[in-house]
Amino acid sequence: IIVNLAPVDIPVAYGPAFEGESIRKPDTYLEAGGSSKTAVFELLRMRGEAEVEDGRITLIGKDVSEFEEGSATSLAILVDVYGKKMQEDFESVLERRIHLFLNFAQGIWHTGQRNLNWIRLSKDAVSSGVSLRHFGNILITKLKEEFSSIVSRVQVTIITDEEEVRRRLPEALERYAARDARLAGLTDESVDRFFTCGLCSSFAPGHICIIMPERLGLCGAINWLDAKAAQEIDPHGPNQIILKNEVIDSEKGQWSGVNDAVYEGSNHKLERVNTYSMMEDPMTSCGCFEVIIGMTSDMQAVFAVNREYGGMTPVGMKFSTLAGSVGGGKQTPGFMGIGRKYLVSRKFIPADGGFLRIAWMPKDLKESMREQLQERAEELGVPDFVDKIADETITTDTEGLINWMTEVNHPALSMLPLLQ
Ligand code: SF4
Ligand code: ZN
Repeated sequence: IIVNLAPVDIPVAYGPAFEGESIRKPDTYLEAGGSSKTAVFELLRMRGEAEVEDGRITLIGKDVSEFEEGSATSLAILVDVYGKKMQEDFESVLERRIHLFLNFAQGIWHTGQRNLNWIRLSKDAVSSGVSLRHFGNILITKLKEEFSSIVSRVQVTIITDEEEVRRRLPEALERYAARDARLAGLTDESVDRFFTCGLCSSFAPGHICIIMPERLGLCGAINWLDAKAAQEIDPHGPNQIILKNEVIDSEKGQWSGVNDAVYEGSNHKLERVNTYSMMEDPMTSCGCFEVIIGMTSDMQAVFAVNREYGGMTPVGMKFSTLAGSVGGGKQTPGFMGIGRKYLVSRKFIPADGGFLRIAWMPKDLKESMREQLQERAEELGVPDFVDKIADETITTDTEGLINWMTEVNHPALSMLPLLQ
C-alpha cells in the first residue's frame, strides 16, 4: 500500500489507499446511520457569497471524545459552498464527493448518500485524535482542491445533536425531492446519450456505472442530470459521455456505444452489457449499491435486499454475504447491485419480467418506498401488488416464499422461469 502524505490537516493517513477499507463493528468507536438507525443526512448547498465564511467549521452537539466507545449518534453533515460559477445543478455532484473524501481518511468509513448514509469511526482513528471537526478539514480542503474552477468558499457544519438534526432534515428532504423532480419526464429513449461514472473504479477496478435517465448509479447518488452536470464541470473527470449509437437489442437494453464504454471501462474484460437485464450480461457492481436484487432459489421471482437490513433473505444469505460476491466490478448474472430508486423505474429489469417479478423485500424497505411502489403497481394494472411482496415477517426461506406466492397468486408465477 502506498500511503500518500496527508494533504489535509488530520491526525491519520489520507489517500485513495484507504477507500476500500471497511471498519467492522467491534473496531468501531462511533457510528451514525445505517443499521444503527440514528437520524442522519448529508447536504451540500450553494449559498450566497456573504453566507459562506471560507474555512469555517461549526460543530453543534457532542464531538467524538464526549461519546462512549461503541456509541451511535445522529449526524448531519452540512456543506455550504460559494463560487461565481457554481450552479444549483452541480450541488449533487459535489455532494457525492463527501463519500469519497471521507473514505480516503484512515479509520473513517462512509457509505450511502443523502439521508441514507452510514458512517463509522474506528477506535484506532479516535485514539489517534480524529474528531468530527476533522470532517470539516477534509471536506473544505478537498472540495476546494478538486472543484477549484467552481468553488471558492466552503464552510462545514457538523451536527450530532439529535433534535437539531431532526429539525433540519425537512430542508434536506425538500432539496433531494426537488433534484429528483427535475429528472421526471426524461426517458432512456428521449436522450441520445448516457454517461459513465468511474468514481468507484479505484477500489473496484473494471467497474463503471452506466447512468441513464431511467436508471441512476447503484449508489443512489448520481442520476443522469448529475452525471451530465459533472461532465460539464470536468470534461475529463469520472463522468464521460456515451453516445448510444446503434441499438443492438432494445428489449435487453444493449447499445453499441454502451458496449464500447464498458469494454474500455473494464480494461477490455467485458464486451457487452444488457442494461435491462440482471440475468444476461448485467451491469457490474462496485461495492456501494444501496440494494442487491437477485433471483430466488426456484428461479421464479426476484428478491431485493437493502444494506441496512441485517437479517436473512429467502436465498439463505444475508446482505453482507451477497455483497461479497456481487461487488468488486464483476458481472454476476442472477444478482446485481442497484440504487433503490431503480426498483420503481419503468426500466426495472424489463428483460427479466420487470417490476412484477419482485416477490420479497425487507419490511423497512417496502414501507419506506410504499408510495412509489404503489404508484408503479397501479400503473401496471395490479393495484394490490405491493401487499403480494413478502417480507421477513412473512418468511425468510425458499419454501415459505413459494407457499406465500402460491397463496397470494403472485404474478411472477405465471411468468417463464428466469433461467430456462
Ligand atoms: Fe459513480 Fe456508480 Fe460509484 Fe455511484 S456507485 S459513485 S454512480 S461509480
Ligand atoms: Zn461504488
